[in-house]
Amino acid sequence: MQRKPTFCLLQPRSYPNRLSLVIPVYNEEAVVPLLRHALQQFTRELQGEAEVILVNDGSTDLTLQQIVDWAREDDHVKVVNFSRNFGHQIASTAGLDYATGDAVVLLDADLQDPLHVIHQMIARYCDGYDVVYGQRKARLGETWFKRLTAWLFYRLMRTLVHKDLPVDAGDFRLLSRRCLNALQQMRETHRFLRGMVAWVGFPQVGVQYERSQRAAGSTKYTLKKMGAFAWTAATSFSILPLKASTLLGVIVTLIGVEEAVRALLAKMFHWYVVPGWTSLTVLVSIIGGATLISVGMVGEYIGKLYEQAKNRPLYVVSQTLNVSPVSRADVEPRLKAVGKQ
Ligand code: UDP
Ligand code: MG
Repeated sequence: MQRKPTFCLLQPRSYPNRLSLVIPVYNEEAVVPLLRHALQQFTRELQGEAEVILVNDGSTDLTLQQIVDWAREDDHVKVVNFSRNFGHQIASTAGLDYATGDAVVLLDADLQDPLHVIHQMIARYCDGYDVVYGQRKARLGETWFKRLTAWLFYRLMRTLVHKDLPVDAGDFRLLSRRCLNALQQMRETHRFLRGMVAWVGFPQVGVQYERSQRAAGSTKYTLKKMGAFAWTAATSFSILPLKASTLLGVIVTLIGVEEAVRALLAKMFHWYVVPGWTSLTVLVSIIGGATLISVGMVGEYIGKLYEQAKNRPLYVVSQTLNVSPVSRADVEPRLKAVGKQ
């Protein structure tokens, strides 16, 4: 395997004593039985202990009942039940908050992220890497539209926003305990976990895999959710869109100056033949448009500041199952302490 140059000295580690598998679930009744079967097999292959943290993100189907039944039969399975749907990124955050393992793997419920890749991730973790992200070399069974938008998304985000963001890597990744502790200090409301993990730093490396088809059910990422996700990714990390609106303002002002000079010269040298109705209309609409774009852009950020200023908890948990009071007592004061900062 090739080694990536890194700015930290790699310190080999021992195999994780406990591995936490964090899985957000939202209306996944078709998938849960398959997931359960696959995970039961997979955890037997591990050399250490495993815990599975299932975060039910306000499912409206039989998902909750299924995972509760599962957890009642297996106390390595922990359930965190949200009071409503908070979205994938927040559900993942909650799962990470409740994880107690030395290393944590974040994955989707639909088995699109093959479990056997986790063995490779653990091997890189033992080499000393703190973040091992899955990098998709092929996407099976996804529409050309999804593939095109994903391709564009990663390239745009990398050039415009996060230079360290690995391309074609989703949330399927392994995090070390120290990376997770750093990530937990970041309690921002608008979350783009991959960007946040890139921000945390530490030695990071990718393992390539083929992303399979969804085992059952359909995608929970609607076009609207995808759009909102991309927008959060672009605006939660950078003020580039604000700068872009300033640039637009500058360009429009330059056009305005050019038009003004032209009008003055026309008046001085009597060039004026036709009343300048067209140019006037064009100018007014360009300036109006640019002003509105800029104001809207500022508004987006003010909205984000407003949301953040409310300082609400990121999620509300209605029940937990198999979550020991020890780990809960561990999670809550830590989160409160973070909230006070
Ligand atoms: N998910 C969630 N809350 C949501 C949407 C999705 O917890 O509001 C979960 C979903 O159950 C799955 C994971 O997030 O485990 C990824 O969703 P999906 O597979 O639908 O996304 P895709 O792979 O199509 O991008
Ligand atoms: Mg999926």
